[in-house]
Amino acid sequence: MNSRYTWINGEMIASSDATVPFLTAGFHYGLAIFEGIRAYQTPKGPAVFRLREHMQRFEDSARIVGFRDLPKSVDEMMTAVCDTVRANAYGECYIRPLLWLGDGGWSLTLDTGKPLVAVAVWEQSVYVAKPADQGLRACVSSFTRHHPNAMMTKAKVSGNYTNSILAKTDAQRNGFDEAILLDPEGYVAECTGANMFVVRNGRLLTPPTDAILEGITRDTVVTLAKDLGIPVMESRLSRDHLYVVDEVFVCGTAAEVQGVTHIDGRQVGAGVPGPITAALREAYLSAVRGSHARSEGWLTVV
Ligand code: PMP
Repeated sequence: MNSRYTWINGEMIASSDATVPFLTAGFHYGLAIFEGIRAYQTPKGPAVFRLREHMQRFEDSARIVGFRDLPKSVDEMMTAVCDTVRANAYGECYIRPLLWLGDGGWSLTLDTGKPLVAVAVWEQSVYVAKPADQGLRACVSSFTRHHPNAMMTKAKVSGNYTNSILAKTDAQRNGFDEAILLDPEGYVAECTGANMFVVRNGRLLTPPTDAILEGITRDTVVTLAKDLGIPVMESRLSRDHLYVVDEVFVCGTAAEVQGVTHIDGRQVGAGVPGPITAALREAYLSAVRGSHARSEGWLTVV
């Protein structure tokens, strides 16, 4: 990652100096929480999409895993994010705040360590991006998404992503772009780094939040769909639903809105991203770039 500056524990330093000691408990045990945010070029200059919601989820994640005294408030973290984007003079970038268990924490409790915090930015995409007229080829993973009482599914915990990496590595080695994970009861949960929607008989359906990360893009898509008059509801989906629905798409900060055109070798709908997927993708891309009626409330100019 090639950024010049990284914000770490309150200081903006050269990215090459932004290192953590090898003996860091958060690194050894996967006890860190993070966010994935994006800044886009807008008519008012570079702006961060839904920054407050991301930093609120960041704080919620830290509280869910049990940190008591957080080093920075939501507002301070929002400022740190804007400062880091500005320092690197990026027009568009991916933004990675991370809070980890440092300064101790070796006895497997949070109370013997301390939360440390940083914000890094970079320009490369972290998700496979298909052109609008093409979709992802997905498979249902042989790995199960976390039980919500085994890992905390509403918290964006670094350790949770071992499950994602197992599923995605397998999927890609088998020739697919993405893996769809089922929850411990066998219902559709989410993808490795994105939420899922399906369209059936003109209605937009998405799994309930029981066992998934409550995506900010998922929330954005629900709002945009309602604006467009598309009926939307949460619904448990089973694997066989995926084989008969008219459209499927994934959504996330990195993924944005991308159609899924094949699942387990079966064609979804006409085998190209469908009209509802296309309309929501277009609305989403105009919202993040400042040219949608909703943009004003969702963008923070850096
Ligand atoms: N689920 C998982 C497992 C994710 O990693 C992500 C990406 N953060 C999402 C869903 C989508 O969340 P968001 O829309 O907030 O980026």
